[in-house]
Amino acid sequence: MTGLTRRDFEALDRADTLRPFRERFVLPEGVIYLDGNSLGAMPKETAARLQQVAAQEWAEGLVRSWSRAGWIDLPLRIGAKIGRLIGAEADETIVADSTSVNLFKLLAAALPLRPGRKIILSECTNFPTDLYIAEGVAALLGCRLELVEPEALDHALCDDVAIVMLTHVNYRTGRMHDMAGITRRVQAAGALMLWDLCHSAGAVPIDLTGAGADFAVGCGYKYLNGGPGAPSFLYIARRWQDRMILPLTGWLGHAAPFAFEAQFRPAAGVQRALVGTPPILSLAALETGVDLMLEAPMPALRAKSLRQFELLAALMDEALAGCGFDIVTPRDPDRRGSQICLVHQHAWPIAQALIARGVIGDFRAPDILRFGLTPLYLGYAELWDAVAILKDIMAAGAWDRPEHHARAKVT
Ligand SMILES: *Cc1c(COP(=O)(O)O)cnc(C)c1O
Repeated sequence: MTGLTRRDFEALDRADTLRPFRERFVLPEGVIYLDGNSLGAMPKETAARLQQVAAQEWAEGLVRSWSRAGWIDLPLRIGAKIGRLIGAEADETIVADSTSVNLFKLLAAALPLRPGRKIILSECTNFPTDLYIAEGVAALLGCRLELVEPEALDHALCDDVAIVMLTHVNYRTGRMHDMAGITRRVQAAGALMLWDLCHSAGAVPIDLTGAGADFAVGCGYKYLNGGPGAPSFLYIARRWQDRMILPLTGWLGHAAPFAFEAQFRPAAGVQRALVGTPPILSLAALETGVDLMLEAPMPALRAKSLRQFELLAALMDEALAGCGFDIVTPRDPDRRGSQICLVHQHAWPIAQALIARGVIGDFRAPDILRFGLTPLYLGYAELWDAVAILKDIMAAGAWDRPEHHARAKVT
């Protein structure tokens, strides 16, 4: 028995020092949003900022805004800000393209740094696009992708592994890797380490410098609240930057893009990872999201996320006993990110029934219900209400209706 009541959760909201951040977001009435790890909520400032970029910088400033409004600096400027969230130096991170494309760029540029080694090592539970991209790079460069269970990583490290590519927080279970420990062991085996931070940037404290990581990528539209399809970021440790030739040699990665030379010469530093003209409207939205996140102290965000997980897990253990759920996210705070995932054989219709009642989480095939915890705007009383609704849906058998079994195209 937790002995907790809704009043306890209301009291937690009143005492929450992060509560004022909630007012900075647009959150629709009647919705409990537990999917900020798929698409972050919109900061109120974003709409105003987009309006300003469109009506002033674009409409009035026209092409002059590339310099006057600083458009050309946005990829590096926002990269430096994201760098503060992931423990990077200011000149090690840049914003460009999508996570998939950045993975391609980094993997293809990293393999030649370990000549003679032929393996990209990853885990079979990694996010599909990461694996698909690695498969493509391996085919292109005459290497191969080897996939193992997470527990077998150390065992699979051998003289033929050029690079290890892992996602820090697993998208399906929320399990978090020991970044520093794994990086150390990978590098001791002579390989390079690439971290995918899609489910950790803005969600958990990250110290790429402390861990000695070589490369990283991550998402702008999840915990960073950068908007649908927001550009991604990539990190290259300074020691590698001038030794890497990125495979997509576009003009914005050139040492002198506006000299219009006939031959490619890479820019110094992380800037060489740029390819083509950056999407300014999307970057403006991303910067607003990142600025807001930087206002909140990460230790407070992490503490609230851990607390929200514990409370949610306790409520679920009690309310859903005997309903066939199993929490698969590690209970150990050092081993999980900022989500809670439950396995249930009817996960799909249950997720749909929840959405019909305003509780938006998501389903991940084959049998996972995933709820993202975004402490910047998620309240405590909402957790209580979400569990009450889930309990109700299970007790009334309300999930088992034809409309909840229908499959949509995008999940
Ligand atoms: C969300 C996510 C992606 C998304 O990649 P896109 O190129 O933005 O579609 C990639 N990898 C992981 C681990 C993710 O969680």
